[in-house]
Amino acid sequence: MIDEIIITNTKSLNEIESLVAKCERCSLSQTKTKDVPGVGNEQAEVMFIGEAPGKDEDLQGEPFVGAAGKFLNEMIESLGWERSDIYIANVLKHRPPSNRDPEASEADACWPYLKRQIELISPKLIVFLGRHSMNRFFPTLQISKSHGQAFRKDFLGKSQVFLALYHPAAALYNGGMRDTLKSDFNKIPKILDKIDEITNSDSTLDTKVETPVTKTKEIKQAKLFN
Ligand code: URA
Repeated sequence: MIDEIIITNTKSLNEIESLVAKCERCSLSQTKTKDVPGVGNEQAEVMFIGEAPGKDEDLQGEPFVGAAGKFLNEMIESLGWERSDIYIANVLKHRPPSNRDPEASEADACWPYLKRQIELISPKLIVFLGRHSMNRFFPTLQISKSHGQAFRKDFLGKSQVFLALYHPAAALYNGGMRDTLKSDFNKIPKILDKIDEITNSDSTLDTKVETPVTKTKEIKQAKLFN
C-alpha cells in the first residue's frame, strides 16, 4: 500500500505517474486496463478536473479522449488553445467498473495524488468538470447554482481560484446545457485576466470583490470572484 506521505513527497508529475501505475490504495486497480493519472503541461495556468476515466480513457490511458473529450477539445480550441497548453486530470485515476459513480472511499484514496498534482502544477485557475469534481473540493455546493461562477478559497497554502462547469458528457446531448457550458467556458480568459489584474495590483485577492453566492458554509469561505 502506497502511503500518503510518499505521494506528498513526490517531486514531479512523472513520479506521481509511476506511483499511480502500482497503486493499490483502492480496489479499482484490480479492474483497470490502463492508468489515467492525467495529461498536459506541467506549467499549465489552467487545470481541468473531471470525475473518473470512462471506457475510452481506461483503454487509452488518457483523460477525456471519448465523446465528452472531443467536446472538451472543441471548447479548448475555441479559445485558441491546445490540450498541451493545459493540464487535465480526474478525481479518480482508475476507471470504476461500468462507469458507476466514484465511491467516497475511492475518491479519498486518490485524493493525495490530485492534491500533489495541484501543488506541482500550481495552476492559476482550477476548472471543475461536473459536480463530482466540484463536490470533492466543495461538498455542499450544487452545480446547477454554482456553474459559471469563479470563486476562491485558501487551498494548499495559496489563494486558489476555482470555476465550476457542467460536465461535458452531461451537456453533450442536452442543447440547453450545452449552450450554458460553452458560455461558461468562454469566461475562462476573462477570469485569468482578472486573476492577473488582482495579482499585479497592490491589493491581495482577499481584499477584492467578496460577494457570497449562497448561504452555504463553504461558499461563505470561498468567495465569489467574478
Ligand atoms: N469523464 C470524466 O469525468 N473523465 C474522463 O476522463 C472522461 C470522461
